[in-house]
Amino acid sequence: MVEKLYVSYNEVHKLCQASAQRILDDIKPNLMIAIGGGGYVPARILRSFIKRPGHPNIPIQAIGLSLYEQLGNDTEVEKPGTKVTRTQWLDLSSLEMANLIGKNVLIVDEVDDTRTTLEYAVKELQSDVAAAAKALGRDAEDTKFSIFVLHNKDKPKKGSLPADVIDGDRYIAAVTTGDVWINYPWEATDIDEHDRMAAKQAAK
Ligand code: 5GP
Repeated sequence: MVEKLYVSYNEVHKLCQASAQRILDDIKPNLMIAIGGGGYVPARILRSFIKRPGHPNIPIQAIGLSLYEQLGNDTEVEKPGTKVTRTQWLDLSSLEMANLIGKNVLIVDEVDDTRTTLEYAVKELQSDVAAAAKALGRDAEDTKFSIFVLHNKDKPKKGSLPADVIDGDRYIAAVTTGDVWINYPWEATDIDEHDRMAAKQAAK
């Protein structure tokens, strides 16, 4: 049976808080792109901790990517799909994409499992920015993509990320776990029971 890890809203909040200084020091994001649905809540919480006094809030854009297909009601663990599907993407108008050129863009998701989704997101965003930069005669190399996840599972990855992201301190995972299944609070249908399970695990 797959081991399950229950994470409370409170823990998610504190994981974002604990990573904020490193994100400010190493990444200095101008913009966040949250991968939905798991990246939305962490991105919003993180924004509160990386807001600098006298500066506007860091904008959050959303993309929707889907890799996992549900097996049915009799299982609580989802089976990995093989292909990433875009369910939502950035507005590809040149004005919108031009906004990314030369920026420090922080991609936020809840978990890095096989890395397939993150690989897809980085590759596609890089290629969209390159196309926008080319059309405008600007340099796409100035755009720096970074990644923040709450949990990284320490396991062989199917996807890969650019070396300058991994080696250049532009990949931040608040926690590294084993190959467990993580239950996030926003997926809970009974949040009180979810919190009881999280508290029980934390007490161990
Ligand atoms: P990857 O592409 O890295 O294999 O998986 C990314 C996506 O799979 C995540 O954004 C998430 O939606 C889903 N996923 C992978 N592992 C877990 C897990 O342990 N718990 C939950 N709730 N979702 C997971």
